[in-house]
Amino acid sequence: MGLSDDLAAVVGERHVLTSQDVIDGYVTDWTRRYRGTAACVVVPGSAAEVAEVVRACARRAAPIVPQGGNTGMVGGSVPWQGGPASPDFADAAAVVLSTHRLRGLEPVDVVAGQVTAGAGVTIAELNAHVRPAGFSYGVDLASRDSATVGGTIATNAGGVHSVRYGYTRAQLLGTEAVLADGRIISHLAGLTADNAGYDLAGLLAGSEGTLGVITAARLRLWSAETALVAVLAGVDTIAAAAGLYAEIRGRTSRVQAAEYFEAAGVELVCRVAGLPLPLDREYPAYLLVEAAGADAADQLAELGKLADAAVAMDPAGRARLWAYRERHTEAISAEGIPHKLDVAVPMSKLGPFRAALATATRPYREIVFGHIGAGNVHVNVLGPDPDDERVDEAVLRLAAAHGGTVSAEHGIGRAKARWLHLSRSAEEIAAMRAVKSALDPAGLLNPGVLFCGAAG
Ligand SMILES: Cc1cc2nc3c(=O)[nH]c(=O)nc-3n(C[C@H](O)[C@H](O)[C@H](O)COP(=O)(O)OP(=O)(O)OC[C@H]3O[C@@H](n4cnc5c(N)ncnc54)[C@H](O)[C@@H]3O)c2cc1C
Repeated sequence: MGLSDDLAAVVGERHVLTSQDVIDGYVTDWTRRYRGTAACVVVPGSAAEVAEVVRACARRAAPIVPQGGNTGMVGGSVPWQGGPASPDFADAAAVVLSTHRLRGLEPVDVVAGQVTAGAGVTIAELNAHVRPAGFSYGVDLASRDSATVGGTIATNAGGVHSVRYGYTRAQLLGTEAVLADGRIISHLAGLTADNAGYDLAGLLAGSEGTLGVITAARLRLWSAETALVAVLAGVDTIAAAAGLYAEIRGRTSRVQAAEYFEAAGVELVCRVAGLPLPLDREYPAYLLVEAAGADAADQLAELGKLADAAVAMDPAGRARLWAYRERHTEAISAEGIPHKLDVAVPMSKLGPFRAALATATRPYREIVFGHIGAGNVHVNVLGPDPDDERVDEAVLRLAAAHGGTVSAEHGIGRAKARWLHLSRSAEEIAAMRAVKSALDPAGLLNPGVLFCGAAG
């Protein structure tokens, strides 16, 4: 009897995947930069089964890598051993725990504006479920068809609407999760007035699979906006884009997206997706803003007359403008295996940071875009070998030197564990390690993520 037999006894044989071809899809990340090995993939169908799976893995000291949609960008969803993983991790074959079968969706609580969703529900499924009741979920991202409720909580995902609704942590009213010893902690009542002790759901948000396996969540919903307007404007610099965004925010209160991209990304998207140029002529950079409300339509349409901009109010027109932003990630991947560095700097530092970035990424090809409303810049570098981390280090240090963070929204994962200290003090890291070792003393859950070394 081996580990996969133990797991089959819990979830049934057909939910333990052992064929190497199938495993390959679960141990390679979305970017293709991070690839590991696993003993098997286990797909439990309930929180109770997750708990039994965790206990079975603990008995054999097998590390567990929780996985949702596998759209993460920092190597945290795959058992990649090329990075600073703990020595224990390299010795024992890991188990990928997929949440695909945790797909329960309770009826929308219309009075409270809440819903309970299983960890494996995708963001697109969640939105499709709540829309008929007049609601939308506050987190939306281009990976919506694959990214899951559990994965977005574990990474505390931001997304295109974070300027209005906040990150995933702000949507959480409670979670159900399995701890490393197999105990289930469940807090799904949905009380908004509830200050009894530590906010464990908030702690799990951004824990990247290192503190527990999230199995379900109680989520806050927002009234769906019906009148939306999108404007795409050409600008000369990132500082000009930030200035224009500030002007728009001053004119209309319900801005729900503010996205930045540049000529190099637009050229690539147009080529890969077969789209025409978005405006009459090319610009060095672009700002895409979406706002809600009848007044927003008037204000942004007025702005459209002042600058060179395209304005769209109907869903098809808005989707046409959004395609230039949302197709960046796939277009970049079509060109090669990118180094993806998702950083943020204070809005006032965006200009100097962008200018210095060109030197930090030289001689490689850089494609820059991001959620400018949050000071977030996704730096994509094409050209360096996947294992060559020199450009990663240069960009992350540059962000830190500009008062920024090494992770705006993708998390630390395995990819950035070496550089956590650029954004968190030694005291903060010691406190995080204390939390980790209290909840997972054997280091079973996602070793090598967040922290370097065996203690991780
Ligand atoms: C096209 C594209 C666009 C994207 N846009 C954005 C964006 O705008 N904003 C943003 O923040 N991110 C974005 N991402 C990154 C990614 O979609 C997010 O990080 C997302 O939250 C990952 O969700 P997932 O279900 O795919 O998780 P995975 O990739 O499967 O896992 C991510 C991490 O969470 C852990 N995890 C997953 N499920 C659980 C669970 N149930 N319990 C505990 N731990 C778990 C994993 O171990 C891993 O560490 C984008 C990715 C792509 C491909």
